[in-house]
Amino acid sequence: MKIERKKLSHPLIFIFSLLLLLTTLFSIACNIELPTDKSTKDKPTKDKTTKDKNKDDDSPKNLGSKQLQIHMLDIGQGDSLLIITPEKKSILIDAGLVKAAPKVIEALEENNIENIDLVVASHPHADHIGGIPKVLDAVPAKKFLDSGQEHPTATYEKMLTKVKEKIGKLTIARAGQKFELDSGVKLEVLGPSEPLLERVSGSIENANSVILMLTYGDFRMIFTGDSEDETEARLLEKGFNLKAQVLKVAHHGSQYATSDEFLKKVNPEAAIISCGEDNNYGHPAPPTLEKLKNDKVKVYRTDLQGQITVVSDGKNYQIKTEHKATGNIWEGRTSSKSKKGDS
Ligand SMILES: [Zn+2]
Repeated sequence: MKIERKKLSHPLIFIFSLLLLLTTLFSIACNIELPTDKSTKDKPTKDKTTKDKNKDDDSPKNLGSKQLQIHMLDIGQGDSLLIITPEKKSILIDAGLVKAAPKVIEALEENNIENIDLVVASHPHADHIGGIPKVLDAVPAKKFLDSGQEHPTATYEKMLTKVKEKIGKLTIARAGQKFELDSGVKLEVLGPSEPLLERVSGSIENANSVILMLTYGDFRMIFTGDSEDETEARLLEKGFNLKAQVLKVAHHGSQYATSDEFLKKVNPEAAIISCGEDNNYGHPAPPTLEKLKNDKVKVYRTDLQGQITVVSDGKNYQIKTEHKATGNIWEGRTSSKSKKGDS
């Protein structure tokens, strides 16, 4: 009996070994094919494509555990920025065009945000507020900050109706307001200030954009909406402390903002630009990039590098890009439109 069992076990062992070998070979083959592309494209990677003055920004810093995150989402032409504080409070500044809403909602879900603490509409143009109604349908929000400008478009009316339905009321942003959403994080409104700008060479809605300064310890970042030169002149006139390590470049890098005087006051180390790779507005404009280059500011662009993420522990900061630049950071676009101002 013993001998017979031994004889029987040999073919079984052989079959099992063969199956094991085939399974292993199959899984190895699958693993090699699948992740290579995704792992480099989808994971935020440290950008090492441009090396400028920015100190040791390309080498990882040891950031503390209490981190502030700012995500400039890659939503094509428009703006959408998601701020997450160390205590997981959230601020959403703009939500791009209507078609950008799914991407914004996905970013909120990925970051486990079930309730947005503050939504800001920088100004009433469609490439900033178009996605807001759908976002509010998907994720509840507690507070809403608006530039409070008269703007009779269907997109803006739709947004106001949704805010009323979902949040109840909105706060009109005016210089001097402060929001403390987290024990260590401050958000200060620098603009618009009364009386609102009335005559500008570009778009009046852009000129009266909500301007915000975010502070966490030593780290500061300024959010400029779609400001015009006149907006910057008003900020300078008011004598605000505009100094910030990171600048959200105004108006997708348009040439009608980021004046020399403004840039000098902010004195940023890094600047991030949100614009679509297929935009025909001439964003970002070659003269704006030129100024930033001359000032040795490190530039990041959503059209070339995907989502841009800034992380700070209140002392140091790091900037990560979704992928390596797909083109020359310093090469701007030329406009095929004659009118300046919108979008
Ligand atoms: Zn815009």
